[in-house]
Amino acid sequence: MIVVRPRPIIHGMRITIVYDNVARDPAFRADWGFAALVETSGPTILFDTGAKGSILMDNMEKLAIDPAGIDAVFVSHGHWDHTGGLADFLQVQPTTVFLPPTCPPPQDATRTVFLKQPTELFRNVFSTGQLAGIEQSLVVRRNNHTIVIAGCSHPGVGTILSAAARFGPVHALIGGLHGFDDFSLIERLEAICPVHCTRHIDAIKRRYPDRYLAGGAGSVIDL
Ligand SMILES: [Zn+2]
Ligand SMILES: [Zn+2]
Repeated sequence: MIVVRPRPIIHGMRITIVYDNVARDPAFRADWGFAALVETSGPTILFDTGAKGSILMDNMEKLAIDPAGIDAVFVSHGHWDHTGGLADFLQVQPTTVFLPPTCPPPQDATRTVFLKQPTELFRNVFSTGQLAGIEQSLVVRRNNHTIVIAGCSHPGVGTILSAAARFGPVHALIGGLHGFDDFSLIERLEAICPVHCTRHIDAIKRRYPDRYLAGGAGSVIDL
């Protein structure tokens, strides 16, 4: 499932980890924070922006990601390690920003959309809505598969997965999972990519070696 960019997406979707606590390859800069590019057959969305704009833009350049091709930014929650690169990115590519109502409105956005309730953002692309008063997750459906991308999972992985399930049975989870250790909740997933703040990455990898996908800045996941 891991391939090297740039290879055209034939169908389905691609998630490229742009910003992560570790790097998949020394060519990319590692730093505490998270950002990922979500490419679908429809829109291309930047999920979170990491902590520092310079690192975000640097890693994007190395991945041959053209900011002009990004249709929207989805901010999971207001913590600095997810929003730190937002201002720098919007200066280069002013665009639509989807964010939870607890975040301050960004400057330079062409459109700011605060999301409290579950919402369809584009065809087959959804927000869970703000959960536990702090964080939203992105849900993408393709064919009969539902993929969830989470920032830090502050509301809890169980809460996020059940909120996402309203859009279809969840097949894959990618993102920061914090201290999550109730592994029975991910038993039925076909793919799991724990990144960023996930404390138990090694335990997840050991338990689900065939479903585990390695993260790290520079990783490309085709689903
Ligand atoms: Zn956080
Ligand atoms: Zn975080």
